[in-house]
Amino acid sequence: MPNTRSWVPVPDGSDFPIENLPYGVFTAGGERLTPRVGVAIGDQVLDLSGALGDDVFATGSLNAFMAQGRGAWSDTRRRITELLAEERHRPEIEPHLVAMEDVRLHLPIEVADYVDFYASEHHARNVGSIFRPDGDPLTPNWKHLPIGYHGRAGTVVVSGTPVKRPHGQRKGPQDAAPTFGPSRRLDIEAEVGVVVGTASALGHPVPAGDFADHAFGLVLLNDWSARDIQAWEYVPLGPFLGKSFATSISPWVVPLEALEAARLPHPTQDPEPLEYLRSEEPWGLDLSIEIEWNGTVVSRPPFRQMYWTADQQLAHMTVNGASLRSGDLFASGTVSGPERTQRGSFLELAWNGSEPLRLAGGEERAFLEDGDTVTIRASAPGTGGARIGFGEVTGTIVP
Ligand code: MN
Repeated sequence: MPNTRSWVPVPDGSDFPIENLPYGVFTAGGERLTPRVGVAIGDQVLDLSGALGDDVFATGSLNAFMAQGRGAWSDTRRRITELLAEERHRPEIEPHLVAMEDVRLHLPIEVADYVDFYASEHHARNVGSIFRPDGDPLTPNWKHLPIGYHGRAGTVVVSGTPVKRPHGQRKGPQDAAPTFGPSRRLDIEAEVGVVVGTASALGHPVPAGDFADHAFGLVLLNDWSARDIQAWEYVPLGPFLGKSFATSISPWVVPLEALEAARLPHPTQDPEPLEYLRSEEPWGLDLSIEIEWNGTVVSRPPFRQMYWTADQQLAHMTVNGASLRSGDLFASGTVSGPERTQRGSFLELAWNGSEPLRLAGGEERAFLEDGDTVTIRASAPGTGGARIGFGEVTGTIVP
């Protein structure tokens, strides 16, 4: 559908129509070496520090702007929409547009704390069946609370950053003792991350209903996972070095406001969760995800199938009184649907190596080889039939 609502030309099928306006941090050209905040529209980036004349967009990350709160986010979005929609603003605004191909995109946020959840029942059942074949695939707590762990904020990297294969201890079920060396079972987890914009006070839980006051927007996230290191280390305290070497996120943060049309009523949960995890009208998001491995699309996980919702996760991670900071990032957990072609990790797609995938080049894969590239994309319905794209998160494995 051609875009008719902006004077900026937006190609058909673009991820970035005027209904989206995701925020990122970029540098461009010789004279613009300071990273600044921009919004993507079509094939271009609008430099907000220039267009709006506000230094909050020249700080090198979104954090200062996000800390201003929901009112400022709405006002800014309304103003940018007006500037890009009304022809009369074109002469003053056009000089602040930069071609996407001329910009370098940076990590959009200074990541404060990073939490990763485990919210897909399909994923949890698959992994449970693989790792604990003799027991119930779901642990007894799974349907009572959104399970998660605190990850490593300092190793969250922007899309395009090479991922160095981690070394660590590995011990297979048949091995008498652990050995040390490069991971042989390097994997991905296709996830959606929520970027927290505004802080909360220590000792004050954030109710699920306050989600939109704190959540600034969403990114795509790849939780790179070394399954051999993970399998040996994770009992009894959970993921550690098998996860902390790198987590990639997409450079564009899609504002929550751009996803209004993607909201869906969420199915009733059984058993009914405890009071603090209930909301009047539970909602999920209709995001369609696509995972590409060396150019072959290997899976299309549906985010609408997630069991626990983002507002429940926010309520749960603060219910003990833990505070939020601007720049906190929490991820959904691997997004897997019920079908084989909807699984969000290679562990599941190739069933722990026993059912390798065949890629377009004829190569067979169960886990990542050096030189492999994985790209995750997603889109959602926007207002007026628009398509809200997330851009992509991509990474290549290096030895
Ligand atoms: Mn994960």
